[in-house]
Amino acid sequence: MSYVDEVLELAIAKNPAQPEFHQAVKEVLESLRVVIEANEEKYRKEALLERMVTPERQILFRVPWVDDKGQVQVNNGFRVQFNSAIGPYKGGLRLHPSVNLGIIKFLGFEQVFKNSLTGLPIGGGKGGSDFDPKGKSDREVMAFCQSFMTELYRHIGADTDVPAGDIGTGAREIGYLFGQYKKIRNQYEGVLTGKGLTYGGSLARTEATGYGLLYLTEEMLKSNGQDIKDKVCAVSGAGNVAIYAIQKAQQLGAKPVTCSDSTGWIYDPEGIDVDLLKEIKEVKRARLTEYAAQRPSAQYHEGKGVWSVKCDVALPCATQNELTLDDAKMLVENGCIAVCEGANMPTTLEATEYLQQHKVFFVPGKASNAGGVATSALEMSQNSERLSWTFEEVDAKLKGIMVNIYHNIDDAAKKYGLDGNYVAGANIAGFLKVAEAMEAQGIV
Ligand code: GLU
Repeated sequence: MSYVDEVLELAIAKNPAQPEFHQAVKEVLESLRVVIEANEEKYRKEALLERMVTPERQILFRVPWVDDKGQVQVNNGFRVQFNSAIGPYKGGLRLHPSVNLGIIKFLGFEQVFKNSLTGLPIGGGKGGSDFDPKGKSDREVMAFCQSFMTELYRHIGADTDVPAGDIGTGAREIGYLFGQYKKIRNQYEGVLTGKGLTYGGSLARTEATGYGLLYLTEEMLKSNGQDIKDKVCAVSGAGNVAIYAIQKAQQLGAKPVTCSDSTGWIYDPEGIDVDLLKEIKEVKRARLTEYAAQRPSAQYHEGKGVWSVKCDVALPCATQNELTLDDAKMLVENGCIAVCEGANMPTTLEATEYLQQHKVFFVPGKASNAGGVATSALEMSQNSERLSWTFEEVDAKLKGIMVNIYHNIDDAAKKYGLDGNYVAGANIAGFLKVAEAMEAQGIV
């Protein structure tokens, strides 16, 4: 059996009932075949792939907190410190009822390659909890965050592990987490990113994932003889990534016409009104029905459906496995030319293969959504030098990083005879840097 197949089998057997983790490992290892097979004996002897798919450390903990009725609630807390070969562990905290160890491991594994692609010195990690911030009062969210940090603080630090936001963890949660860390440690350090601007946050961090997605999409289209201008975009999600993807798409002259949340989706043929969307999601924390109520051109539909809309470019910015094979078929039938992922692993393996077979440009999230974590690394730099850069400075650096990522994954794909296969390009380019650093550091 080939080394890749052996490790794939092993990863599945050793991590039962973690389908998302299996999926992420499968996608990466399959596309590394060309690289591994060229050096199979060496990599097997070093057990490099076994080490790559096994987190350095996994922390599971209890998070008790008291709700507004005086009732004690208990959630599960996770931090998976996956790989620190190229820098301190770095990655977000997801707060969502679906969170379990398998989900955090898939996200941590993806993060290792994503962070490597940014070209910045950050290792990979991820964490979170099955706590649902939706519908909770600010006091309840604070109580949860303080309890979560009361355990997490002993495992993290500016040079050890630097968590950030993800689904369910925004500016409010990062603020409470930072406050509790500072209180327990009596230390003012850049231990989290995505902080508020008054206490060490970076300008443009909020916008970075969505903006970065569009910078990379623009560059990829340009390199393939296409212009982002006037492209109709279908966007899913209505969170931080989707909002700023929509905003940047509009600034670049494209026309985003959809967005979605957990209960329904909007089709707005005149283009999404991003100010209204921001007001509803960032300020009121309300549902998209509210958007339709205030915008005559918008149609609200229950359930899923953004991929049924005719579009040139699809930008999945909601969550994992939201774009299925049936969705991919609809996109192809409607003449979609590109799918660039804003979320982490939003496209199923079958859908990805179908899109690639039908010559749709497909960029995986570990490349196209890396702008968020890249800007987090810029926030770490600013914290270290105790300075704040201007919005324009950070934004220009972000754009440079995204353009670079595109060319790196494109070049890596070409080098291995996989021209246009950006999944392979991203996995290979991300892997090679981490592998080299691991080999240099010995068996640790
Ligand atoms: N959660 C984001 C991601 O998936 C950002 C992580 C960070 O800024 O550390 O990359």
